[in-house]
Amino acid sequence: MKPFGTEFCDHIAIASYSAGAWTAPSIEPLAPLSLHPAAHVLHYASSCFEGFKAYRWADGRGRIFRLHDHVARMRRSAASMVLPVPDADLLAGMVVDLVHHNLADIPEPPASLYLRPTLIGTLKNIGAAAAPSTEAMLFVLASPVGDYFTSGAAALKLLVEDGRERTTEQLGSTKTGGNYAAALGPTLAAKEKYGVDQVLFCPNGDVQETGAANFLLISDDEILTKSLDTTFLHGMTRDSVLRLGAEMGYRISERPFTVDELLEKVSTWEACLSGTAATLTSVGSLVYKGEEIKVRDGQPGPNRAKLQKALQDIQYGLATDTHGWLTEVG
Ligand code: PLP
Repeated sequence: MKPFGTEFCDHIAIASYSAGAWTAPSIEPLAPLSLHPAAHVLHYASSCFEGFKAYRWADGRGRIFRLHDHVARMRRSAASMVLPVPDADLLAGMVVDLVHHNLADIPEPPASLYLRPTLIGTLKNIGAAAAPSTEAMLFVLASPVGDYFTSGAAALKLLVEDGRERTTEQLGSTKTGGNYAAALGPTLAAKEKYGVDQVLFCPNGDVQETGAANFLLISDDEILTKSLDTTFLHGMTRDSVLRLGAEMGYRISERPFTVDELLEKVSTWEACLSGTAATLTSVGSLVYKGEEIKVRDGQPGPNRAKLQKALQDIQYGLATDTHGWLTEVG
């Protein structure tokens, strides 16, 4: 299978917005988009997106994980970028129709079909820096992706960055391209300087998240992660793991915590990144003030494995979905 995000199904779902209304969505062959060079998104970054997966079960049908929660997050992102907010039914329907159309392209678990709804401002106006785009395009891409863990993911090394932020406080919980652009430079610089995989952004000592995943500390009986606020993306994997963890008997602590507490805990606690792409990825070491600090023995831990299995069993149809997280297609 090709690297994550580089292979695409040959159709997309697409709709557009102008004069206060959305067109009826359609399934179209995948092809380059036609955009006016003055399109608002190209100048003023009016865009947002989502990322989630559909799985193929043994019955041949598709199951989309937490579709309605991802649609709700996309609508919050759209509102925050002052873009036309698609109705939940319109967006969910586009995703379901696309998955249905591409059912045969969903690979067997642990692989899946990654879904990428994207909304862009298309108003032709390069004088609209301080005005919203009243025209927009909404499309959904589908991309067959492999499982990160079959390739034997090693534990990651993170730079603990307590000086700068991943993005602005105002847009931290919005899934918009500019946030990734803001984190890119610091992340590449840290990779080069320290040989780390990712940067854990902890402005003023407040442990937040990495460029594209949430951060969790896990002991044998507790899961600790930052409580929801506007500074970071409210991950669906984070939420799912916290809910499953509570049912499995872990104490769930959602509260702010500092780099000092982090460094003290990692001698005995496991550390993980959580996100759709890699579910739960172990963190093996942290680099702070030029020094490398091991997380426990540096190896992936048993609690991560337990929680990941609980989540994947639901996604793959090996355990009952008691939360109503899956939308059946086909
Ligand atoms: N944080 C950021 C910045 C992300 O880009 C992502 C991935 O989408 C996450 C966290 C994890 O979110 P989710 O679990 O919904 O994939």
